[in-house]
Amino acid sequence: MMVNKEFNLVLLGPPGAGKGTQAGYLTKAYHLLHVSTGDMLREAVKEGTETGIEAEKYMNSGELVPDSVVTRIMVERMAKPDAAGGVIFDGYPRTVPQAKSLDDALIKEERSLNVVLYFETTEKVAIERLSGRRVCGKCNKNYHVTNMPPTKDGICDVCGGELIQREDDKPETVKNRLTVYKERTKDLIEYYMKKGLLREVNGDLPAKQLFDDIDALFRQEGLINDGDNGQ
Ligand code: AMP
Repeated sequence: MMVNKEFNLVLLGPPGAGKGTQAGYLTKAYHLLHVSTGDMLREAVKEGTETGIEAEKYMNSGELVPDSVVTRIMVERMAKPDAAGGVIFDGYPRTVPQAKSLDDALIKEERSLNVVLYFETTEKVAIERLSGRRVCGKCNKNYHVTNMPPTKDGICDVCGGELIQREDDKPETVKNRLTVYKERTKDLIEYYMKKGLLREVNGDLPAKQLFDDIDALFRQEGLINDGDNGQ
């Protein structure tokens, strides 16, 4: 275990900032649990649960799912034993009410957030990443047609599943997702800045380079121990 103590981290940034990709690196390096509300909601849609049916209409138009719904699934997830060692929150919170709910849930368990990484990303790069993203329909692994292509065109390297384009990665919805992000997240940045938790990283950088920057930042801040980062 490389983290100094229980480590709770929020990844904040627009769709296409590379949060999911960095979460993959961070999970591997520091053995944290990656929790993505987007992934959980997509799973619920796939399974046709009540939550999934309610969420789908918002997701397909690029709007945010109501705070009460996402907070409920997040709090339920945090209560599971595998979340005890520290969590990477990816795509949650997205609004100030969600951030307050997360604070409350953490306080109840005598935990707190250690850092919020803000992925400063230009719109051009975000659009390029979202439009080229492909996802395995079976195991949900992400690829990119040019930046991170699979070995065999259209086929997942891990499970052999078929790669598809997410409904909300299509151009009509991408535009709205970026607008919604800008409108709803501005206050969140200020919320975490005031708490002294916000650290800005360059979301435009290639994935590995950005991970090295994040790792250096964590060491500088004393959030992880010296030594191998597990890469
Ligand atoms: P993502 O995979 O994080 O881009 O999320 C995909 C979609 O799921 C978003 O466009 C929203 O509709 C919904 N979603 C994910 N996380 C949240 C959240 N924290 N609050 C509200 N809606 C969310």
